[in-house]
Amino acid sequence: MKIAMLARNANLYSHQRLKAAAEERGHQLEIINTLRCYMNIASRRPEIYYNGNKLTGFDAVIPRIGASVTFYGLAVLRQFEMMGVYPLNESVAIGRSRDKLRSMQLLARDGIGLPVTTFAHDPKMTAEVLHTAGGAPVVIKLLEGTQGIGVVLADTERSAISVIEAFRGANVNILVQEFIKEAGGTDIRALVVGGKVIASMKRTGAEGEFRSNLHRGGSSAAVKITPEERSTAIRAAKAMGLNVCGVDMLRSNHGAVVMEVNSSPGLEGIEKASGIDVAGKIIDFLAKHAVAGKTKTKGR
Ligand code: ADP
Ligand code: GLU
Repeated sequence: MKIAMLARNANLYSHQRLKAAAEERGHQLEIINTLRCYMNIASRRPEIYYNGNKLTGFDAVIPRIGASVTFYGLAVLRQFEMMGVYPLNESVAIGRSRDKLRSMQLLARDGIGLPVTTFAHDPKMTAEVLHTAGGAPVVIKLLEGTQGIGVVLADTERSAISVIEAFRGANVNILVQEFIKEAGGTDIRALVVGGKVIASMKRTGAEGEFRSNLHRGGSSAAVKITPEERSTAIRAAKAMGLNVCGVDMLRSNHGAVVMEVNSSPGLEGIEKASGIDVAGKIIDFLAKHAVAGKTKTKGR
């Protein structure tokens, strides 16, 4: 197989691992800087150029599109799809996952456990929104935040109101969510590849920190997930239409609740915590499914 990987930093652990795993299996993997691609949106013959050359002959594409370059990155990925190159995750599915509200609506539609979550536009609704989320403490989240930035715990109703007003003043969209205290600053990440959980880990926040993100100083460790958590993760991946994703869950009093589904999960934490060759399993999935010209959506 000839695989393109859309990424900005070729040296990241995840990217190096995917390249090594592909080469170990006799495939060719080229890392392509997403932002340096340019496209010819010509009728019936979509083309992508990179470093002055037309990209041709790829069987599969691995999108590793950072949140900050979602718009252009998804356009490049769609162009690959229109050329019939099989995407590890489809552009529409990644687009869904980048919007927390849309993701939660899709997960809720499929009956997947979620923290009680509210959303409103009108600032006059603040009191009702807080009440519906079960009252303080609540977690307030920027709709487009990542790596735990823009996730705030408000302990009291007063602080919740000021945080909500501050975010509104900055003209950004937010979710207000029940605080799952019993999770104790730990979340579970299940890595789903092709409808199966192939690895999992738990992440625990630094002392005094309710956010468990590794970027916020959290640490990861091996964990054995329950059959319920496994099936929740698989259903979440399916609801989002993602072949490969990291499903983040909290262990709540009412079972596993999904916080987020990440379409470009980092591999370092999970490979080290679980000892599993996640990169290899991703490449094996591609080798099994990438049939040139057989992409399902072609970017629709
Ligand atoms: P991001 O996408 O920025 O990582 P998340 O929604 O995953 O944002 O939240 C970051 C972290 O905050 C989570 O990993 C979790 O540890 C904690 N957290 C988020 N929502 C809740 C909640 N409702 N209750 C308890 N902890 C939460
Ligand atoms: N094809 C639809 C879209 O891209 C899918 C809707 C959805 O389930 O997200 O908007």
